[in-house]
Amino acid sequence: MDKHEDFRDSLATVDESGGRIWLFPTKPSGKYYKYRTWVSFGLLAFLLLVPWIKINGHPLFLLDVFARKFILFGAVFWPQDFYLFGLAMITFFVFIILFTVVYGRVFCGWVCPQTIFMELVFRKIEYWIEGDASAQRKLVHAPWNREKVLKRVGKHSLFLLIAFIISHTVIAWVIGVDSLWNLVNTSPLKQQGGFIAMIAGTFLFYGVYARFREQMCTTFCPYGRLQGVLLDDDSMIVAYDHVRGEPRGKIKKDTENKDLGDCIDCGLCVRVCPTGIDIRNGTQMECVNCTACIDACNEVMEKVHRPLDLIRYASENSIKENRGFIFTTRMKAYTGVLVLLVGVMVTLLFIRSDVEATVLRTPGTLFQKLDDGRVSNLYQVKIINKTFDTMHIALSPNVNATIRLIGKDSILTVPSGGMAESSFFLDVDPNDLDGIKTNVRISLMDGDKKVGSVKTGFLGPAGNK
Ligand code: SF4
Ligand code: SF4
Repeated sequence: MDKHEDFRDSLATVDESGGRIWLFPTKPSGKYYKYRTWVSFGLLAFLLLVPWIKINGHPLFLLDVFARKFILFGAVFWPQDFYLFGLAMITFFVFIILFTVVYGRVFCGWVCPQTIFMELVFRKIEYWIEGDASAQRKLVHAPWNREKVLKRVGKHSLFLLIAFIISHTVIAWVIGVDSLWNLVNTSPLKQQGGFIAMIAGTFLFYGVYARFREQMCTTFCPYGRLQGVLLDDDSMIVAYDHVRGEPRGKIKKDTENKDLGDCIDCGLCVRVCPTGIDIRNGTQMECVNCTACIDACNEVMEKVHRPLDLIRYASENSIKENRGFIFTTRMKAYTGVLVLLVGVMVTLLFIRSDVEATVLRTPGTLFQKLDDGRVSNLYQVKIINKTFDTMHIALSPNVNATIRLIGKDSILTVPSGGMAESSFFLDVDPNDLDGIKTNVRISLMDGDKKVGSVKTGFLGPAGNK
């Protein structure tokens, strides 16, 4: 392959004076574009509909960062579950690194909200209203006649409407649809913070998709910037087969073109690229793996009766060595670690208890002998309720004993997402003790339902048993 690397000295979307080169990518079509459209429908439905789904009156998902309350698949997580959040973050970062090393930027092309909204929502609207790339270019230079005004106003009104919907959807994910509905139905003067968030969100999304566009991926996104260190020659990327394609050259009539490779240098792969790069130059940070160039080139290959997939998902090494993509031992190992990480995280989420309790003997105290001969220890109890409902907890020990809560009745009321603390005496018959220290298990009963249990030690006089 030609080793001219000067294309790396500049961005395809910035001219020599530092000005923006506005891109007009040709409308993609083909197998991958069709699949990505279907995937985008699924993801958009998930994003828009999930905030409306409720289980027993509670949202299926809620990411309330302000109240530090998260609901995932109907299970509520409070600040007390912070260790799970920390673990999830670590898992997430390790996952991202391993996933990218093996599968490249598949996420960017197929799942990333920026690509989904930009390429499969806003760009589609643009094609629908203004036409394909050449029509858009023409419209830019056209005088402000009726057609241009109508097209521009129509497009930007729709853009604003969609940005408005995205902004409300994001707010619904954070505060829930009920609070959003409340916000919408309240005077902006009474809910200034919420109103400003809605308007700011709308203009932010509008600005990103109407103006900032591919710059988000090529200059702003930190994940994009990491590609240089995460990808290697075995990573799966959207790649041009330079072995088969070079030397490139136009098909000439009445000649056999026998010295040329399969690339006919039509430039369609460059024209469809939403980040304006030429994939034939090799792996580039600006490539979001959107697959538009694969579809475009396959269309060309079909027309010129050459094998498909001159541009395809492949690794640099598989192209150099002229072989198929190999799932190497390292990739298998990384995939194994990924599956394991996700498995551990899911298991931790599912085995998490609804109630967290600690029962500790009050520091500095030993035991007391009561008038009726029983032995008493003083404890401190702390109970955290991680469910949606208030709990009324009674403590029930596994030995023949009486519990005397100090200053309260025999029931501890623990609010949803809240905590209750108290102290209590545990009075035990000396015949039930195992010596100086007896292990005691205390069950937490919410009515007839056991919601947890906790182990603690009971100190008694020497000589029992
Ligand atoms: S090079 Fe191809 S896959 Fe990469 S962003 Fe451009 S069109 Fe998409
Ligand atoms: S679309 Fe295919 S044939 Fe045309 S320039 Fe790109 S790689 Fe070459």
